[in-house]
Amino acid sequence: MQIPIKNVGNERLVDAFQRHYYYLRLSITDQCNFRCNYCLPNGYQPEANKPSFLTLSEITRVARAFAAMGTEKIRLTGGEPTLRKDFLTIAESVANVEGIRHVALTTNGYRMAKDVADWKRAGVTSVNVSVDSLDPRMFHQITGINKFDEVMRGIDRAFDVGYHKVKVNSVLMKNLNDHEFNQFLAWVKNRPIQMRFIELMQTGEMDSFFERHHLSGEILAQKLLSQGWQLQQRAATDGPAKVFSHPDYQGEIGLIMPYEKNFCASCNRLRVSAKGKLHLCLFGEEGIELRDLLQSEEQQGVLQSRIFSALQGKREHHYLHQGDSGIRNHLASIGG
Ligand code: SAM
Ligand code: SF4
Repeated sequence: MQIPIKNVGNERLVDAFQRHYYYLRLSITDQCNFRCNYCLPNGYQPEANKPSFLTLSEITRVARAFAAMGTEKIRLTGGEPTLRKDFLTIAESVANVEGIRHVALTTNGYRMAKDVADWKRAGVTSVNVSVDSLDPRMFHQITGINKFDEVMRGIDRAFDVGYHKVKVNSVLMKNLNDHEFNQFLAWVKNRPIQMRFIELMQTGEMDSFFERHHLSGEILAQKLLSQGWQLQQRAATDGPAKVFSHPDYQGEIGLIMPYEKNFCASCNRLRVSAKGKLHLCLFGEEGIELRDLLQSEEQQGVLQSRIFSALQGKREHHYLHQGDSGIRNHLASIGG
């Protein structure tokens, strides 16, 4: 049974710097079947004796608490979220929570060609799929998996089943796939794809990888502006990308530049890990335990109060540009 909002307090998700949080990134598993060289180069390693991932009921309670506090958009992420056998039930359950208007999915796309119609039926309103290269060999080299053709078929299928736009994520890296920048632009010329270049973030699993391959998003922004692309306005539930459009292109380009100084000023998102910890920032904190308050419907009020007080401690910005690495082991544990 869903508890009416008025019975459980009226805290909205606003922090000490008047930022509103409309957007939750909810990781539902750490597990992944890819081995992206910037994320899980050695593949997913299960940790012995660690708590299992959130159950369907726990996930639904997270969604209800956030929705009651003003969250309108939930992104299901991971690890690879579609590896969960109950993925469709999870998507459906989150989509049915009162107040949730958008259920987005971030996926590596390995099941997309087969399952995207079911995702749509379950209530997934938008799909982001990671494609780090348009060259099958480079795709294999970066992801450790030879599934380029399946992922491409998945994108075509998404349009067939009625998605009007697909977002594609790519981590553009120096001396690996950065020479494909123009090819990616050409690819979206006549396709309604928002191509999003994510700047490589340093994690604990990287040794010299970051120094060798990090490419500043600022360089890409300058290239786009010089080629007639224009920066668009953001909406309240938009993600962190700076989005550019061009009159000659059907697609759009998004740049995600976490090292940029003002990246945090427009922060509108919180994260919950697959084991039930609230993360106020992608970088540098341990997370606040929520799982003990996800065990029954009656706990929703206390859960909301814990989330609200934690949010008041959210820092104004991360300190990456001042040399604080804020390093996490990898982003698969928190959904990127
Ligand atoms: N497995 C799904 C996928 O790959 O789309 C969802 C989880 S993945 C952690 C989410 C996003 O984070 C992906 O687009 C991935 O490219 C990005 N990501 C992972 N590690 C990263 C890193 N070190 N720097 C930048 N982006 C990263
Ligand atoms: Fe898996 Fe996504 Fe990480 Fe690649 S980026 S290893 S697909 S979680």
